[in-house]
Amino acid sequence: MRIVLVGPPGAGKGTQAHLLAKTLSIPHISTGDLFRANIGQGTPLGLEAKGYMDAGRLVPDEVTIGMAKDRMLQSDAANGFLLDGFPRNLGQAKALDEFLAEQGIKLDGVLDLEVPEDEVVKRIAGRRLCRNNGSHVFHVAYNPPKAEGVCDECGGELFQRSDDTEEAVRVRLEEYHSKTEPIIGYYQDQGLLVTIPALGTVDEVTARAIEALKQDS
Ligand code: ADP
Repeated sequence: MRIVLVGPPGAGKGTQAHLLAKTLSIPHISTGDLFRANIGQGTPLGLEAKGYMDAGRLVPDEVTIGMAKDRMLQSDAANGFLLDGFPRNLGQAKALDEFLAEQGIKLDGVLDLEVPEDEVVKRIAGRRLCRNNGSHVFHVAYNPPKAEGVCDECGGELFQRSDDTEEAVRVRLEEYHSKTEPIIGYYQDQGLLVTIPALGTVDEVTARAIEALKQDS
């Protein structure tokens, strides 16, 4: 299966992508995680991305599209993948379509996680990520780790993202409305879009997502 996950920052894309990818036995490809890994390793790509990310802005397409394609060409993605955070604007959506056409493959569905804006802000403020694996995501109130500051899944140290500040979150929401939301209509026109409410417990949302994807394919 080849799936794209969309939704505002804080919608729970990372959390859901991790669980869905496990259930569907496909790799979880998160451009945010790929950027953070590059930043952690101090690569030129990471250095370029960091300024944009900390400000809450999108990283330029020239950098992002190449990185996403490289990842999709790795052998573990040959039979499917779940894209989280890519595409994030119409240019990226069109580049993805061209790439898929070149490879002779198609998307099976686009899952849109719908969350009210005040909830998004609450989720981001309490979010904590694992240093070892960006898809191990916790929330201090909604999904607390068993031991404070320690990842339940791998024992890694939990941290707060540098772009989870109030100012960066405001910019990220603006970027989402102006640049990312248009791809929802783009995929709706292709008959690929399924929208689910992303409120409720993590497991409830995962179950809803699996059900919606089954009906769609
Ligand atoms: P969230 O979905 O919570 O905003 P991500 O981890 O997906 O978080 O992304 C964090 C940041 O990484 C974005 O605000 C942006 O700066 C950058 N980024 C991630 N994916 C893309 C993309 N497809 N295009 C441009 N920038 C991106």
